[in-house]
Amino acid sequence: MKKFQQLNYQRPDFKLFEANFNHALNEFEYASSAGEQTLAFKMINEIRSHFETMMNIVSVKHSINIADKFFEVEQEFFDEHEPAYRGLVHKFYEALICAKYRDSLQEIYGKQLFTIAELTIKTFHESILEYLQKENQLCTDYQKIIASAKIKYNGKVMNLSELNAIKLSTDRNIRREVSYLVDGYYEKHQDEFNNIYDQLVKTRHTIALKLGYKNFVQLGYARMLRSDYDSKMVANYRDKIFSEIVPIVNDLKIEQQKRLGLCDFYSYDEAMDFADGNPKPLGNAAWIVEQAKTMFKELNKEVGDFFEFMTKYELLDLETKPNKAGGGYCTFFSELKAPFIFSNFNGTSHDIDVLTHESGHAFQGYSSRYWNIEEYYFPTYEACEIHSMSMEFLCWPWMKLFFGEDANRYQNAHMQHSISFLPYGVSVDEFQEWVYENPNASITERNNQWRLIEKKYLPYRKYDNNAYLENGGFWHRQSHIFKTPFYYIDYTLAQVCAFQFWKRSNANRVDAMKDYIRLCKAGGSKSFLELVALANLKSPFEKGTVEEITAEINDWLQQNKIRNKVTAEV
Ligand code: ZN
Repeated sequence: MKKFQQLNYQRPDFKLFEANFNHALNEFEYASSAGEQTLAFKMINEIRSHFETMMNIVSVKHSINIADKFFEVEQEFFDEHEPAYRGLVHKFYEALICAKYRDSLQEIYGKQLFTIAELTIKTFHESILEYLQKENQLCTDYQKIIASAKIKYNGKVMNLSELNAIKLSTDRNIRREVSYLVDGYYEKHQDEFNNIYDQLVKTRHTIALKLGYKNFVQLGYARMLRSDYDSKMVANYRDKIFSEIVPIVNDLKIEQQKRLGLCDFYSYDEAMDFADGNPKPLGNAAWIVEQAKTMFKELNKEVGDFFEFMTKYELLDLETKPNKAGGGYCTFFSELKAPFIFSNFNGTSHDIDVLTHESGHAFQGYSSRYWNIEEYYFPTYEACEIHSMSMEFLCWPWMKLFFGEDANRYQNAHMQHSISFLPYGVSVDEFQEWVYENPNASITERNNQWRLIEKKYLPYRKYDNNAYLENGGFWHRQSHIFKTPFYYIDYTLAQVCAFQFWKRSNANRVDAMKDYIRLCKAGGSKSFLELVALANLKSPFEKGTVEEITAEINDWLQQNKIRNKVTAEV
């Protein structure tokens, strides 16, 4: 295999691709034996694997440098052709569910592939193609506004990720000033965000109606390939987070305010864990990667081998730089059987969160590489996030490698961030459910609704006289709301599972690792709740699950009170 930089990219000839695909599909449909049908099935997967690998290479290269004209044009090519590609896959799914030798295929690949096919069929029809293209275009428009942010601070032009790092300054005036700059950027573009989203909501609603749904909610669930839970179960789960977790987080914020010695506590103080500064990794990206090699090797042999592979083939692009898209993600090049990690390291402890998180995703992709079908390299998102969020906790005993004597402070902060995330995560979900149930709401009504939900789940949040945020503009920066509707709750469901791995690894690390690796190897071959059971975890929807982890976390927080390093508590 070649290193990432040396990979050959060639734009697929779509007409030729389509002809090859249809030929293989024909063989599949008219196969005269189970063996023949399985062979045609494999051929279809090979053809898809090449196309998807080229598409992913473009997506990665484009996000590494959005100013690169060559890959900008290639990205446009895939934006334009992806819906047609999905149309072909749709035809394949239709053939799959009525395959003559379905039983033998099911024997090899299990039933999840057929569940995916059935759900996907319900989300597509040729009549919605132009609306899907519009949806893609609107999401790209959103990403461009975020990635092209160039904000001057102290004479230096910075992107949003670089500025967010300065927001962690111990000097409150700097935090306030930089937050105003960041918030100001979103405020300046608020009309564009509101308009893009308004068009997205209306486009998605139209798609839902055309496909025979009442509104986008159920379609959104089908798109997320949720086969074993519905929006009612999610609503009950959100109520659990409200009753069990919101009071704990509220208390933690009061403690945090005391620890920071502040008379008032504003949104720009929330990310600040200690008056004397949050723990920082003790070296740069290259140094972090070296520590990570040691950590993963000691954690588990399979995980160690995986990380060696990632570094050997340079499948990581970690540091933030001009014209790089925001955020972090992991993807998988199926033809190469290799994952790829993208992030924006900025020198804060967040770098370690992202590294361990994305390594969890990448390790799972790597562990599932021999499934040889596109549908099984990753499971549905809520299951995916179990691998990543659990890896963050499984790496805890090695935090001294990155933070030295601040390791325990990092763990404390990480725990507080993880639990505080739950109410925010369900807010994003409740907002979206409301939005798609009320597709004709005005932009102002939508923003008011966000602020209402924010006040319910984040009662401590105060915006220091910022009218834009007081009027409900914060959600503009949550890219999932634009790009992947209903995704966000998945992080919280997975967090509840990750807490269980944390609890179990504290009691018996070897057993917890066995279950974790079994989960990773299963890839996407099972549904969410089946995977949860396979890993010997309890369902987040089950009565008592949230309560059980809450009790454990509360105990741990009581025993590990976090303090400022040098400054006495006020
Ligand atoms: Zn993730």
